[in-house]
Amino acid sequence: MIKILFSLFFCLPFLVHAQNLPTTLAVPGGIISIALGDINTPAPEVTFLDKKVLVLEENQQWYAVVGIPLKAKIGQHSIQVKSGKKENTINFTITDKDYPAQYITIKNKRMVNPNPDDLKRIRSERPAINKALNTWSLRSINDLNFQIPVIGRLSSPFGLKRFFNKQPKNPHSGLDIAAITGTDISAPAAGIVINTGSYYYNGNTVFLDHGQGLISGYFHLSKISVQAGQIIEQGTKLGEVGETGRVTGPHLHWNVYLNKTKVDPALFIPELSAAQ
Ligand SMILES: [Zn+2]
Repeated sequence: MIKILFSLFFCLPFLVHAQNLPTTLAVPGGIISIALGDINTPAPEVTFLDKKVLVLEENQQWYAVVGIPLKAKIGQHSIQVKSGKKENTINFTITDKDYPAQYITIKNKRMVNPNPDDLKRIRSERPAINKALNTWSLRSINDLNFQIPVIGRLSSPFGLKRFFNKQPKNPHSGLDIAAITGTDISAPAAGIVINTGSYYYNGNTVFLDHGQGLISGYFHLSKISVQAGQIIEQGTKLGEVGETGRVTGPHLHWNVYLNKTKVDPALFIPELSAAQ
């Protein structure tokens, strides 16, 4: 009996699928929501792999919403939870997910093997992008119910092992939605525009901060309709689909980051995550 109770206790975090939380999928590139206790206590501070983690109120409980890096090792991991003077550790298990491979031919060879000038440009763009991705604000988050930013065809899922012109590259870090150039892109959730720019690989880009390290990115736009510092609501137009940067055709590449980790955006959209 004790053994059953013990295993139930440790399994509970994996069964969580509260309405306002993203779908739990404890795999590399996935998300796990872990119940931390009653909301009558102050909000706990949580870290995972030394990075601050989003904490949110749901069903009278505090929850940590933890992004799992694509490079995370399979097996047992833990979050550190600080609540007042109390500190404790909650363990969870990351299971394997075998992401398929994708082979892409890029006509513009400089998009696969940049020349020295391109590399200089790429390096010069990094600080602005990193600054956006390292944003931590205390914006309050009521729920994590996202709406899809573009109506279109899901052309490449998150996590694909990628080969450009037969060369192995980083795995696909977002979700691609193909649509014709000029299709509206709207904010999936409320937030603030933290950066817009025209970058070598990402093309015309918008980054949003939704609060507590939940950041989203919109790449390859033909047109940007917002400015840094602008506060936006769910559904605000961010720009239009295009094919700027490294692309094979017009689409939106959509990134979502939690605790400085790229996670599968589909987990925030119930209709899409149901298919996982
Ligand atoms: Zn993409």
